[in-house]
Amino acid sequence: MGVEAFEQLEDNLKSRSYEGREYRHVPDYRRGVEKGTVLIAGTVVRGFPKISRTLVLSEGVPRQFEDRVVLEEKLNGYNVRVARIDGDVLAFTRSGIVCPFTTRILERLVDLEPIFEAHPEAMVCGEMIGPENPYTAHDYPEVDSLAFRAFDWRDRESGEPLPVAERRERYDAFDVPQTRLFGTFDVDDASEEARRVVRDLDADDREGVVMKSPDGTTQLKYTTAAANQGDLEFAFSLPFDYGQAFMFRRLIREAFQSVEWNESEDDRRDRAHDLGEAILLSMTDTIETVADDQAVGERHTVRADPATVDALLAHLRDQGLTLEIEDDSREDGDRVVTFLKRVQSTNDKTKSYLDGHIVQE
Ligand code: ATP
Ligand code: MG
Repeated sequence: MGVEAFEQLEDNLKSRSYEGREYRHVPDYRRGVEKGTVLIAGTVVRGFPKISRTLVLSEGVPRQFEDRVVLEEKLNGYNVRVARIDGDVLAFTRSGIVCPFTTRILERLVDLEPIFEAHPEAMVCGEMIGPENPYTAHDYPEVDSLAFRAFDWRDRESGEPLPVAERRERYDAFDVPQTRLFGTFDVDDASEEARRVVRDLDADDREGVVMKSPDGTTQLKYTTAAANQGDLEFAFSLPFDYGQAFMFRRLIREAFQSVEWNESEDDRRDRAHDLGEAILLSMTDTIETVADDQAVGERHTVRADPATVDALLAHLRDQGLTLEIEDDSREDGDRVVTFLKRVQSTNDKTKSYLDGHIVQE
């Protein structure tokens, strides 16, 4: 895609600026262009493509792939694309916003300069993972605070990926950490392998797998019960703010997994029990918190040098979020802040139901 094609999207573009640099991006899904595509300094940075999902491995995998299938771990964090624009290495979020926090903290986590020296047009794609992050926090035993894992390498303007094997070699050569590779399999064996891997990942409370064609162009995802239930637990802790479709989709995934895996009656009852806990206990926690006159919302902790934390808080407030700082301290020169992204509906509705508000239903 060139600058001209991008301009045609005019009506769907949002303008922003980062440190005095104007840019435009595609904030939502649109026909013909990936969400998150950016035009900055006369350059197009393509969005990361949406990855399709199968609910049934044994049927979905052969439908999506022809020959060989590469199996990689799917990490649960937030998507970031990194490109060098006019000499500055910038980190873009899924929807194409330059994230001042990620842009700054990446410098500490991984040295991408040598990649951009050798490949100025590269778009480094990866996941930011770990417990201390402002968007999607999840615990990984190998990550104390926050880490970067590369999972793709694309041309920033065409969006074309490198073949998986080449990408993995290149990142290795540049000492950039990557998502785990479980192997490359014949399509006839891939769903069985994926299922085996997903069982192990599930036991470790990890998210799932992404299967890829060796040329990197076709991708398919599948998630563990731990991930589905973790998402439900989170969504039902803010039941009036999360889209009901988000919850429904995850319930459906659980049912198909239980059937495909031919679960025994005992295992199925265990799953039902876990699912019920994920849904109910998170809601009752929330109701009790509100009954206690405390606010509920998305709680995050970040650790970075003070200027980076300042930039993050300003950025989030700029996006219209209301933040409550719950904890603010210094450790080894870093500022460590725990904050709550306030949500409106769950606080208001829960309070009004607790007060006996009558509903017509
Ligand atoms: P969206 O696709 O819009 O980001 P989503 O939240 O539904 O929405 P996910 O279900 O998390 O997306 O699945 C796709 C995401 O998985 C990718 O965008 C990427 O951030 C992440 N991911 C983690 N590990 C990998 C991997 N090994 N290969 C590709 N993507 C990965
Ligand atoms: Mg994700």
